[in-house]
Amino acid sequence: MKPMGQIPADHGRVDGALMIGGRSAADWIDRAGGTPLFVYDFGVVRDRIARFRAAFPGVSLHYAVKANPHPPLIAAIAALVDGIDVASAGEARLALAAGVTAGRISFAGPGKRDDELTMAIDAGITINLESAREAERAIGIGRAMGRTPRLAVRVNPDFELKGSGMKMGGGAKPFGVDADQVPALVRRIAEAGGDYRGLHIFAGSQALDAEALIEAQRSTLLLAARISEEAGLRPPHVNLGGGFGIAHFAADKTLDEQKVGRALTETLSARPPLLADTAFTIELGRWLVGEAGVYLTRVVDRKTSHGETFLIVDGGLHHQLAASGNFGTVVRRNYPISLANFHPDAPLETVSVVGCLCTPMDRLGDQVGLPRADVGDVVALFLAGAYGASASPQSFLGHPPPFELTVDGTEIL
Ligand SMILES: *Cc1c(COP(=O)(O)O)cnc(C)c1O
Repeated sequence: MKPMGQIPADHGRVDGALMIGGRSAADWIDRAGGTPLFVYDFGVVRDRIARFRAAFPGVSLHYAVKANPHPPLIAAIAALVDGIDVASAGEARLALAAGVTAGRISFAGPGKRDDELTMAIDAGITINLESAREAERAIGIGRAMGRTPRLAVRVNPDFELKGSGMKMGGGAKPFGVDADQVPALVRRIAEAGGDYRGLHIFAGSQALDAEALIEAQRSTLLLAARISEEAGLRPPHVNLGGGFGIAHFAADKTLDEQKVGRALTETLSARPPLLADTAFTIELGRWLVGEAGVYLTRVVDRKTSHGETFLIVDGGLHHQLAASGNFGTVVRRNYPISLANFHPDAPLETVSVVGCLCTPMDRLGDQVGLPRADVGDVVALFLAGAYGASASPQSFLGHPPPFELTVDGTEIL
């Protein structure tokens, strides 16, 4: 039996039945119309937002839509956070359709096409510029439209977020403008008549170590001050990045976000006068939604090969690439996995849970300990709220898309 990650405490059981929000997993499957099904429990997201608010007084919270763009989820989150960060015009349209006003949307991401810049400028969305050339294109498009673009500069920091699963700053990166070139670009935006909105400094993702985040946030603030000093302009906003991780695997420790919040409160209270009127933001994706999601998939076949038992399910890596170990991890490890229903006294057996795709990559649970399951039983994969349905190769092998529900208590949003 191989280890697996911890099942989030948010999802309880009643008589062996897994509960998500106010109903059993089986109830949600009935209501959705079948499996494979993602259920996103908005109660969990609300709890994370409340925890953030308690830990980071006075700091704005943005949701990074790329973690999970399910429209009802975006709408529900948008009502409780200060802004929405998008990384394409497609995501921007989803945010606008969810009722988010353009003034609360910011748009980062390398390789923005002219039609994307046009759409953002027309709507009044803040563009986080990824290069000097992109800045010139945005300025030119704004002029041609007779509009003042709202422009911030994404900085490629000269440090990285230590211990982060995905490094997105420090050294040569396709993201942002190298820190030493930012002051000149800020001045250029102001001279060209752009509406300078400030700086966006994102150093990495999926960090579980509070100290690493604290250090990165301190460095981020110093960098924002240094750039602003050299540019001779006060930034109205500084997006400090995010990078709060969630525990996926057996050895992972939960992030102590309250500790990070206390340190940031201290750092901000001692900030240089140049940043006295600046508003600060943290943008989070997976930490807000990852633990809210459960992926439910039904056993289609059960068989034994060379002594190993396989449960073959109707879902797979085409919906949950991350759980198969093929999205941003070097070594394949088990996400938390269980059954939607089992007898509390059922003995555990060692099984491998594999998806229905004809590729050896499609393994959702490798020699995990589960109560005995047979054809028709439902397997629950946890931590399915972020980088699931939208971050998986859904057309690979021609299987149907998953059902998705965002739920709040006993209601479907
Ligand atoms: C992907 C991304 C995020 C969200 O990352 P999480 O790890 O899901 O919190 C936030 N900001 C930027 C710029 C990103 O690229």
